[in-house]
Amino acid sequence: MPSPDTTPELLAPAPAPATTPGHAPAAAPGTQPGHPASQGEFGFTVTTRLNETCAPTAEAIEKNGGKFQGRTGVITTPHGTIKTPAFIAVGTKATVKAVLPEAMEDLGAQALLSNAYHLYLQPGADVLDEAGGLGKFMNWQGPTFTDSGGFQVMSLGSGFKKVINMDAAAASPHAGADDSVAVGKERLAHIDDDGVWFKSHLNGDMHRFTPEVSMQVQHQIGADIMFAFDELTTLLNSRGYQEMSLERTRLWALRCIEEHFRLTEERTGKPYQALFGVIQGAQYEDLRRKASRDLGSMNFDGFGIGGALEKENLGTIVRWCAEELPEDKPRHLLGISEPDDIFTAIENGADTFDCVSPTRVARTSAFYTPDGRFNLSGAKYKRDFGPLSEECDCYTCENYTRAYIHHLFKAKEMLSSTLVSIHNERFVVKMVDDARLAIEDGTFFEFKAETLRRYYPNR
Ligand SMILES: [Zn+2]
Repeated sequence: MPSPDTTPELLAPAPAPATTPGHAPAAAPGTQPGHPASQGEFGFTVTTRLNETCAPTAEAIEKNGGKFQGRTGVITTPHGTIKTPAFIAVGTKATVKAVLPEAMEDLGAQALLSNAYHLYLQPGADVLDEAGGLGKFMNWQGPTFTDSGGFQVMSLGSGFKKVINMDAAAASPHAGADDSVAVGKERLAHIDDDGVWFKSHLNGDMHRFTPEVSMQVQHQIGADIMFAFDELTTLLNSRGYQEMSLERTRLWALRCIEEHFRLTEERTGKPYQALFGVIQGAQYEDLRRKASRDLGSMNFDGFGIGGALEKENLGTIVRWCAEELPEDKPRHLLGISEPDDIFTAIENGADTFDCVSPTRVARTSAFYTPDGRFNLSGAKYKRDFGPLSEECDCYTCENYTRAYIHHLFKAKEMLSSTLVSIHNERFVVKMVDDARLAIEDGTFFEFKAETLRRYYPNR
């Protein structure tokens, strides 16, 4: 079993930047300001293209609806590099739940993603700024991401399946579910062309997020990669609403860039923070392609592919975006959950993706193995003195047994979450590392088929 594919030097702290951010020319509203000079601290290089090494069959291409856009590459940030495709572990509130940052480094995690909304509410973005930024605050030396907070701001309000009125949507799919809230659920977010009012889920206080506020908050948090503030829609919104929302997200993208460059210039001496635009457009090909072209022509450092995605069309949507977006900029798929989704994302051109599942399921004692996901709560594990997975090289599998962790879980001991989370994070990190090596070796499609055949034996 190969060791984690992250060398220590990749995670070493970067020296303080010797240059101060340059001066971007002032731009009129609605136009694109130039790049600040310090943008050179961020970069992306494509190293291998899937089509050039793996030669998928014509049948596979036809089944996929077009050419495979997958590739390997390297993202350079002021806090180290990320070899892509890469799994980005989630530490929502500046911590990967139950796992020390040193353990994340040991298991090969290359970068962590936190949430701007949560950190803005608690402890406050100014606290992270004073601490020297997200990485320093949480004692993580490598690259960091923050999402814009838009998803959380809006998912607490009208835009989320859990609170939306499904009956109204079913009854009137074209009139749309744009303004309906499920019975018994309070609307917690109100969106307008300038921004969003939302109520804190912690104490009910009202807050206002605009593109400018999101940029200010994310600059204070200080992650290496930030995302532009966008409107999250759902698959239940009407086509007309999706069009209106997409235009709103386009205008917000321009405002984010302008505010981002202003802050980059103002906050001299800080490492450069890269900004990714977020592609929305729901399930509509023309809207996804338009958003990709619109935002692709702006001065973003990379792109996020966002929005509600159904499992069946995840790959198709990523491919539409990848076909339109600039080839030389990285693409992050926001929030996926399953091993098969990861392969779909990789082969269609996503370079990085984040997912809360490894730690979320660990807290319910579910663990990943090459032969599928199992749950340690079962009585059969009481005297099972083997590791979680015979094939795993993680700290947990090298030192602990299923019987012990089964006992910890039954006794409601916190250590069970820690040990299973370490294993699950390692499982996903390694699977993506192996997929990257398989693209380089020209064996990606064989590796994918074998991995999924074992993981989903009943399909
Ligand atoms: Zn393990």
